[in-house]
Amino acid sequence: MEQIGHFIDGKRVAGTSGRTADVFNPATGEVQAQVALATKAELEAAVANAAAAQPAWAAQNPQKRARVMMKFVDLLNRDMDKLAEKLSSEHGKTFVDAKGDVQRGLEVIEFCVGAPHLLKGEFTDSAGPGIDMYSMRQPLGVVAGITPFNFPAMIPLWKLGPALAAGNAMILKPSERDPSVPLMLAELLTEAGLPDGVLNVVNGDKEAVDAILDNPVIQAVGFVGSTPIAHYIYHRAAETGKRAQCFGGAKNHMIIMPDADLDQAADALVGAGYGAAGERCMAISVAVPVGDETADRLIEKLVPRVEALKVGPWTSGDDIDFGPVVTKAAQENILRLINSGVDQGAKLVVDNRDFSLQGYENGFFVGPHLFDHVTKDMDIYKTEIFGPVLSTVRAKTYEEAIGLAMDHEYGNGTAIFTRDGDTARDFANRINIGMVGINVPIPVPLAYHTFGGWKKSGFGDLNQHGPDAFKFYTRTKTVTSRWPSGIRQGAEFSIPTMK
Ligand code: NAD
Repeated sequence: MEQIGHFIDGKRVAGTSGRTADVFNPATGEVQAQVALATKAELEAAVANAAAAQPAWAAQNPQKRARVMMKFVDLLNRDMDKLAEKLSSEHGKTFVDAKGDVQRGLEVIEFCVGAPHLLKGEFTDSAGPGIDMYSMRQPLGVVAGITPFNFPAMIPLWKLGPALAAGNAMILKPSERDPSVPLMLAELLTEAGLPDGVLNVVNGDKEAVDAILDNPVIQAVGFVGSTPIAHYIYHRAAETGKRAQCFGGAKNHMIIMPDADLDQAADALVGAGYGAAGERCMAISVAVPVGDETADRLIEKLVPRVEALKVGPWTSGDDIDFGPVVTKAAQENILRLINSGVDQGAKLVVDNRDFSLQGYENGFFVGPHLFDHVTKDMDIYKTEIFGPVLSTVRAKTYEEAIGLAMDHEYGNGTAIFTRDGDTARDFANRINIGMVGINVPIPVPLAYHTFGGWKKSGFGDLNQHGPDAFKFYTRTKTVTSRWPSGIRQGAEFSIPTMK
């Protein structure tokens, strides 16, 4: 059985805790490896190692750090297939989708090549008589990234790219469900020239996370995962005085107006609802057609598309649309929620509860499901299912539809399908959700913009990647400077003003 340890001081090391978690092949249900779960002492040793490495890394000029990122981009491209294969084998997503996972992270590293520009401060010449004022952005020191299972390449890259390019050292605590790719990323960074200790990957569970939160050396925590854990980490980080940005779960609504191209809308819903088995924080999980006629026509177009979806192991190549979900527990939870939807009165118009794949009977597969006539009080509406289940909530008017999205506790992403610019503009302006698509079902911002949800989808005030990430991983120092020739008076006892 393969044993997966940690990556400390530039090399892989075995865990010493004696505690491990199983890493499954979700397509077969077999345990394919065991990952070490770090103790508090192991985490503290990794932090001490990172703290020793950080000052020299921060002292390198920013162009040299950017060149490590440049080389890293080359290596990610070189090893794209290898990374994607490993990613698919532990996560279960299709090979093409796994490459997308690496690619969307790689694009953030490309953005980080511009770190010297992003780290420039501001300067005011002669802010007062003989006085100059300037600000600089300095790294925080040792920071932490805690990441979820569903994007095991992209989200670690979102965290580590800006943090390292800004001159920090990072402790990355990836998901224990699919830990191999983050370790491969650390190896590639070492090959790209990152000094040992600047990125330490510590595998673990709650014990390691709590050790991060309690560690006085760690200055900031970037977290992505479910809302209860995001809230817990935000709360604990505030208690210990750490900077935190914590991104949580989602329930993304797509509104379909009567004037929308319904073929386009149906295609968009199928891709956004079922891609990656619905295990995306930007998946569309609620379709809101406006008007019964729109709803009837939409369901008519959706049913054959959903029924035609092909589910299978990533090794089937391009023949499948999505793979298994990540664990047996996830599979059971999704099926439990589907049953609750039926029990609470929703109409299950595509029912695959008996889905089974020949040769993969023990895999964690869930067939695609489509609900109609879902209402606000149902568990399938209130809860993030994180599976291949699309719920349709019929709205009578545009106001009712936008109200649904606005009243939901989550606010990660949303979309509207319409040909009417006025409606689209009103929607984009009024909606209380962080990422909005207009005839775009999954509006994930590109690397040079920022990614972040509102309401219970995001705690903290700065987004991920883009310029916000450099603000998050640096702090501003402002210097007011005067040389002796500028000192023309004696002591001053009132606040200096520039009147
Ligand atoms: P999760 O919350 O279970 O785990 C995330 C991280 O927290 C992992 O590293 C895990 O080890 C750690 N963790 C788990 N339980 C913990 C506990 N009790 N105490 C301390 N740490 C703990 O999330 P997941 O299942 O890996 O990922 C899926 C979730 O992530 C979904 O809710 C999804 O919407 C969300 N997500 C959000 C975004 C976003 O940007 N908003 C992006 C991707 C995923």
